[in-house]
Amino acid sequence: MLSRKIIEESNIYLATSTRDPENLPLVIDHGEGVWLYDIDGNKYLDFTSGIGVNNLGWPSHPEVIKIGIEQMQKLAHSAGNDFYNVPQLELAKKLVTYSPGSFQKKVFFSNSGTEAIEASIKLAKATGKKYLIAFLGGFHGRTFGSLSLTASKAIQRSVIGPFMPGVIHVPYPNPYKNPWHINGYEEPDELINRVLEFLEEYVFVHLVPPEEVAGIFFEPIQGEGGYVIPPKNFFPKLQKLASSHGILLIDDEVQMGMGRTGKLFAIENFHIAPDIITLAKALGGGIMPIGATIFRKDLDLKPGMHSNTFGGNALACAIGFKVIDIVKELLPHVNKIGKIFSEELQGLADDVRGIGLAWGLEYNEKKIRDRIIAESFKRGLLLLPAGRSAIRVIPPLVITEEEAKIGLDILKKTVKSVRS
Ligand SMILES: *Cc1c(COP(=O)(O)O)cnc(C)c1O
Repeated sequence: MLSRKIIEESNIYLATSTRDPENLPLVIDHGEGVWLYDIDGNKYLDFTSGIGVNNLGWPSHPEVIKIGIEQMQKLAHSAGNDFYNVPQLELAKKLVTYSPGSFQKKVFFSNSGTEAIEASIKLAKATGKKYLIAFLGGFHGRTFGSLSLTASKAIQRSVIGPFMPGVIHVPYPNPYKNPWHINGYEEPDELINRVLEFLEEYVFVHLVPPEEVAGIFFEPIQGEGGYVIPPKNFFPKLQKLASSHGILLIDDEVQMGMGRTGKLFAIENFHIAPDIITLAKALGGGIMPIGATIFRKDLDLKPGMHSNTFGGNALACAIGFKVIDIVKELLPHVNKIGKIFSEELQGLADDVRGIGLAWGLEYNEKKIRDRIIAESFKRGLLLLPAGRSAIRVIPPLVITEEEAKIGLDILKKTVKSVRS
């Protein structure tokens, strides 16, 4: 039991963070595709994708690794905001081409999701408007600006507050749990109307005039918040409201982008074109940290207003370029395997929701959720929690039908034994 020793020592030397030594005592040694091996030689099937980073499996897709090694031997760090390099330009062109919206766009590169959001905040505030709107249950990162928008778990916001002034949080159209107790599956339009009415009749009447609101930040599907999928018509209606007031829509695709939902960008499922889109996690192929902020060209900042050290480095960008190509080819596969998950997950929780390979299982009791995760781990299946009492079921997109069935079988048996 080498793992136990590493965990004990890690608890001494590593800062306390989100690791859970009780339920998930995993010390990863190496990975192969959808399989992870711990340092004691135990094998696990991964239904977490390293929180949406390893969409192409572990340690990465062979072609991505190949490109990475080649680029590393040529040029890696390249002071991408002070000098120019080709991989950065090529990746920017690809992101502009494939992202929704036929208008002209530009890209700012960084190293993480939270930085991609910070850049969005600057772009939005550069309009001269002061206020930002975000959703309860939303997660946008942990640096000061992003954390000011984040409202996923209260504990994440503790210690550092009070936050950046001017952020207003409103309810997300969560079909399963919302302040109006509307069953959003049976009455999706009613739920959408309540959220929009909250903005128009309460926020814009009592709090801030809409013409002073710079942007609305949202996740197309709330990830940390529990894999919550809003009703289909929500985003088109939100876009109508936003454009009637000249408010920007900022789509945080850090977790749901890059093929997770069966589309390259999750917002494509809802047929709108946001003004700003953020990416990170899976864009780096599980090898390199990278963040990207794609924005309408007219929002561009003045020289010197924003920059960073590592953003746009040739290594991360060459990898990101290859990741997009592979993810695009995988989309039919994601939808095919997604159907299996859609069928097999039914009945395994109090609420089952998902699209593509982004699934959430919600339990009315947190204790049940925690036990399912712990018990699955013992049976060789990796799961991670999301929200107050949900499990995210997010295998790497490269999972085969056979592997999917192995994992779903373990999950079914675990749920049955825990719930009985
Ligand atoms: C993970 C996440 C972030 C933050 O990304 P980091 O790379 O951890 O800074 C932001 N937004 C969403 C939706 C995320 O899932």
